[in-house]
Amino acid sequence: MGALMTPAVAIHALHCGSITLPRSSMVGGLPCDLKTALASVRFPLLAFAIELADRSYVLVDTAIDREQSTGLGWWRTALFDLASRMHTLPEWGFCRRMTALGIEPARVRCVLMTHFDYDHTGGLSFASDLPVHVSRAEWGAAQSPSLRDRITRRYAPSDYAGLKNVTEVEFVKDPAHPYVEGIAEIACSDGAVAMVSLPGHTIGHAGVLVRLEGGKRTLLCGDVCYLAEHVSEDLPLGYFPRAVAYDFGAVERSLDGLRRWKKAEPALRVVPSHDPATGALCAERPVRLGA
Ligand SMILES: [Zn+2]
Repeated sequence: MGALMTPAVAIHALHCGSITLPRSSMVGGLPCDLKTALASVRFPLLAFAIELADRSYVLVDTAIDREQSTGLGWWRTALFDLASRMHTLPEWGFCRRMTALGIEPARVRCVLMTHFDYDHTGGLSFASDLPVHVSRAEWGAAQSPSLRDRITRRYAPSDYAGLKNVTEVEFVKDPAHPYVEGIAEIACSDGAVAMVSLPGHTIGHAGVLVRLEGGKRTLLCGDVCYLAEHVSEDLPLGYFPRAVAYDFGAVERSLDGLRRWKKAEPALRVVPSHDPATGALCAERPVRLGA
């Protein structure tokens, strides 16, 4: 890559809604007392817009957009909203967030999907004519969901049925990135962005590595974990990540790789899709992370 690489200018974090769950659901090993059991945390539903040097964009996920998406159908959505204390507002929806940032589809080079859980595909109507990149395994699972995925309805096929330009990403092992199973450079990003394989939460779950100006790097790690401290402080995962994982053993291997990567490269910023600290930063309006 070297001389051909043009780093990204900024990452805009967009808050499209939140769920509120007990901290103990996400963090394991906490004391078993009532106060701890009841202490809850607001987890945002985030999407990201990576700004390139020419003010074009690479988007990562599309979070949730109740004006555009019927999600899981009304009664399942209502049930999930109640159980998770979902909070969304029309003006927080992905498409309105894009408009507020002045990002039109014509200025978007491509959309990268960490995975196809419905809380990440809600705004995909924005991208129906755009190139959408998703791992081959994830696209396959979303096209023909397993019995278990059909029962739990983690995918919302109406969100992605209209996509016209899907690229199935295949990862290759790379000695320069020993902490992940494989990597795939995103050609249209001028070397600024790569997808990395982080399977387990779903079968083909991936993260997005962003190279920023000044040599800074950020890893948008999707739903491998839920707080940045799961990586930086080695916090154990709670029962929620275990319950929703396609393969929890693979989640733990992916997370272990990120912890080793962070120790080898302390300046690496790791941002989960539902990180409460990042959510607090951008709850009012989208913010620029890094650079
Ligand atoms: Zn999620």
